[in-house]
Amino acid sequence: MSVAVLPAVQPSRIHRWAPLLLTALIALTGCGSAGERSQEGLQVVASTPILADLASAVAGDRAQVTSLVPAGADPHTYEPSLRDVRDVAYADVAFTNGLLLEQQKLVRMVDANLPEGALSVAVAEEIESYGGSLIPIVEDASLDSIWLGLRTSGAPRDADLGRDTSVTFRATAASGPGQLAAFITGAFGSVEKVADSGADGDRSAGNLGETSLPLQAHTHLSWAYTQPGIYSLELEAQARGADGATLDGLTDVRPTTVHFAVGVSPDIQARALQEATGQPVTVLDAGHADLTAQLDTGRLVIRTDSDGQVTEYDPASTVIAVPSRTLQELPAGPQYRFLGKPGDQVYLLAQAVLGKHVHGEIDPHIWHSVPNAMAAAQLIRDSLTAADPAGAATYRANTEALLTELEDTDRELHRIYGQLPDTAKNLVTTHDGYRYLASTYRLTVAGYVSPGAGVEPSIQQRERLRRTINDLAVPALYTERGSMNRTPVLQQVGKETGVRVCELYSDSLDTDAPSYSQMMLANAQAITDCST
Ligand SMILES: [Zn+2]
Ligand SMILES: [Zn+2]
Repeated sequence: MSVAVLPAVQPSRIHRWAPLLLTALIALTGCGSAGERSQEGLQVVASTPILADLASAVAGDRAQVTSLVPAGADPHTYEPSLRDVRDVAYADVAFTNGLLLEQQKLVRMVDANLPEGALSVAVAEEIESYGGSLIPIVEDASLDSIWLGLRTSGAPRDADLGRDTSVTFRATAASGPGQLAAFITGAFGSVEKVADSGADGDRSAGNLGETSLPLQAHTHLSWAYTQPGIYSLELEAQARGADGATLDGLTDVRPTTVHFAVGVSPDIQARALQEATGQPVTVLDAGHADLTAQLDTGRLVIRTDSDGQVTEYDPASTVIAVPSRTLQELPAGPQYRFLGKPGDQVYLLAQAVLGKHVHGEIDPHIWHSVPNAMAAAQLIRDSLTAADPAGAATYRANTEALLTELEDTDRELHRIYGQLPDTAKNLVTTHDGYRYLASTYRLTVAGYVSPGAGVEPSIQQRERLRRTINDLAVPALYTERGSMNRTPVLQQVGKETGVRVCELYSDSLDTDAPSYSQMMLANAQAITDCST
């Protein structure tokens, strides 16, 4: 009987870790003998094809590695299937990325179904112990209108609380001359309604829609208004455990009204609020702002973070300005019919980054830096060894071979990116996921553009995009692999400004680049081909 120990990994940082007994392994797979067991090998699930590829390289023949998110799918939005549940239920080790890359639904499914004694490792959250590095997200996309999302704050930083708790934001009332809706545009064009007043606009009570966020997270939203005038939206928020229970120290946020001035001067509304509250009123018309549920105080505030300076505003004395320049035609897709006919004019605050965009303080796309993948490989080696000590020598040898390959890949990437002309080193992308690539290979994320599949940039954003392209003299724009035909405006602006629009891999692999190293090299090649 063998009891595994975890070298070089702090057990306290690994969820649900428990010593693994050989008898338990046999029982788990339902096999009759240890011989059969070893033939089948260790069962490993990884949340993404990229993690699965690294885990397969380390495991070799000793393990069967399954990716939960299929190749080509978007891990930010992927919802687990029944088959995934079964794979997790038979797994000895589960690797997730963590840092809120995956939907909380997926992480919870893993936690809930992994057998007792199996090992669960959030790779990105552990790589620093192996020399990997993490980059915080600083959001400074300069849009020409406010960039309005949802956020939670005030909860203690506790990994277990974070994994189990979600905060539900619910719209409970709305008023205004037209329809008010908030929604999330998925990477491949889907629309998830978060709040919708309905066509007549005035809804004094009820549930007008809701969405859930993990703790310490925020999400970006698109906001649409069908008529000019003054709108209000009432929001409440509640933090609950996985079982729906209330949590000590986390306070419900009572229904709170947020005010919008759409296509009209915000001054009249500002004066009215000032008279009502006796407080000075702020008009917010630019920058990144989140409607923030303060779970310690039970208040809803509007949190801005311009130039690294965090300020919180009381919604009772704040007007959010949605200027006329945000007016644009409703896209043609059927997913927008709840707002009107194709070509109808709506005022639209853009979500600004492609895809469902729930994220925390740290960029989760760690693998775009090869040194981070090397750190991940070593973490995977130690995790597999902990679950299967008899395989230690194999895992060590496989990892050495993988690290050698990754060193070569890293060297090659430095060579390729180093040869790019300076203008080609400015990346303008649709997916906000290349901080690590830029920081490791001395590129610059010059900006990102928001053709959130369907919600195309407004005329002003096109102007800004043109200006960015001209100012930086960028030779190319990059969209996510597989999304080319969903970004017609990007291609139109590209044509008008004489820059090419090309695809980059971000969060997945496919048959053209079936391994991690091939994916990284394919991106380097794409940037070279597209920009020189
Ligand atoms: Zn964000
Ligand atoms: Zn991503």
